[in-house]
Amino acid sequence: MITDHKRNSLKEMAVQIAALYQVGQVTALLNIAASEEIIVCYDHYENTFDGLLVYEEEQDQWYIHVNLDRGNSENSPRGRFSLAHELAHYFIDEHRIGIKSGAIAPIGSRNDLNPQNEMEEEADYFASCLLMPDNLFRAVKTPKKFSLDTVLQLSAAFQVSVLSTAIKFAEIGTHEICAVLSENGEIRWSARSKDFPKWVNRFKRGQRLPPRTVAAEFFADSGKRYTGIETVSPNDWFEATYNADRDMYEQCYYSDSYGYVLSVLWFD
Ligand SMILES: [Zn+2]
Repeated sequence: MITDHKRNSLKEMAVQIAALYQVGQVTALLNIAASEEIIVCYDHYENTFDGLLVYEEEQDQWYIHVNLDRGNSENSPRGRFSLAHELAHYFIDEHRIGIKSGAIAPIGSRNDLNPQNEMEEEADYFASCLLMPDNLFRAVKTPKKFSLDTVLQLSAAFQVSVLSTAIKFAEIGTHEICAVLSENGEIRWSARSKDFPKWVNRFKRGQRLPPRTVAAEFFADSGKRYTGIETVSPNDWFEATYNADRDMYEQCYYSDSYGYVLSVLWFD
């Protein structure tokens, strides 16, 4: 885990850069690359990496390779995240200097909820701040009553994946949430806002979803999708030890391309 101090300095740098290249809510990543004279290549690299930053010494030239074969086109949310992630490796001094000198071998980055090391985690965080600067994120007019629609609306506004948006929303959003990602009925990852009740989870990465949840019903009921706002008990998801006698809401987002289900949990 990177420290709060490190996160703040990454955010500060990313937000400053984003401010110079904002077109409405969208950060014009290719303009950032162009201004640094980085050549961006969208090409087919099979099932290897999502993005790769390379320095060619003979030409004194930086390249970012973005892999079309893993869904990273110029305007796809995944492609935008991958490019932002590689720009992060370029802008973060220790990464760029290490890659340029050869001290850090150029290893392709993969979009991964559980980053392999601190360097990847730093680049992911920088990318999320470059794509969704705090002030712009909070300024988007969303419906007064929170629901998954709020996250979907922000995702469309910033051209960022629903998942990245949910992570950002849990960090700095205007309503406290807990977001849980599952795949094949198993928990992959979760995040919650600072102000969400600090109950102990009834779920754990790598284990089955709690049975009484909406996401679990999807996997149990051979793909029947419940897209509405469902009322659940806090105890379905958590060991709710205080303030538990109120309704909690769960609404699911189903990703066709990646086969995951994202449960967003919240209170009024
Ligand atoms: Zn990386």
